[in-house]
Amino acid sequence: MRGVLFSVVALAVIISGIFSASARSIPVDTPPKIPKPSEENISLPHKHNADCEKTSEEPVQIICILDRSGSMQSLTEDTIGGYNSFLEKQKKNPGKAEVTTILFDDEYEKIADAVDLNEIQDLTSEDYFARGTTALLDAVGRTIMDTLGKMEKEKICPEKRRVLVMIMTDGQENASNEYSKATVKKLIEATTKEYSWNYIFIGANIDSAAEAGSIGINAKHAANYSHDRKGVGESFSMMDAAATEVREKGKVGDNWKK
Ligand SMILES: [Zn+2]
Repeated sequence: MRGVLFSVVALAVIISGIFSASARSIPVDTPPKIPKPSEENISLPHKHNADCEKTSEEPVQIICILDRSGSMQSLTEDTIGGYNSFLEKQKKNPGKAEVTTILFDDEYEKIADAVDLNEIQDLTSEDYFARGTTALLDAVGRTIMDTLGKMEKEKICPEKRRVLVMIMTDGQENASNEYSKATVKKLIEATTKEYSWNYIFIGANIDSAAEAGSIGINAKHAANYSHDRKGVGESFSMMDAAATEVREKGKVGDNWKK
């Protein structure tokens, strides 16, 4: 009888040990589960709370979403040079900033994730080469949700932090399968309205104002660029001017367009 009781107790200890061990094995930095937005429901994950006041405006989040689809082939070197000189200019501005850079075609590649501006590595032909089709909506939707998720994880209030999202593309969306235009539009409108996030849209070979408008970006924040060396250079100059405006005044004004 005693032996049976001992076995039962021992078994209970082992079982509870297994459960507590498995509970401990969950990493503490597991990102919060954010419901994937749909056209019907894009509820933003952040709920304002007492900690929000602790979030500072800086480091300003400079988020670049750059098209690397096949049609950018002839402009590879200009894009690399333009991007690097844009960041060199930004390094000279006062204040703190972090850079997130996404290269997209029908694949999504984040080459910098909120990296301190002063630590950011130059773009090279190893990172940037043209290929594939244009999944613009997926790239934008995913970037917004990743940024919100990261902020939740790090207890950063998305309204208090300054954010600038810059989208550069050279063609029509033709490959997204995760995010619809309606979902991306709602996400952009919600983050603009609720959090004062800034978006700019720079496009070639499309009507940029119309395309920007269709995803919820004000036409004043859209610009066309010509699909050549000069146009790419001007695009990065516009990004530099927009980032400077956001870092100085908190929002994109009227002086960033060429
Ligand atoms: Zn908040």
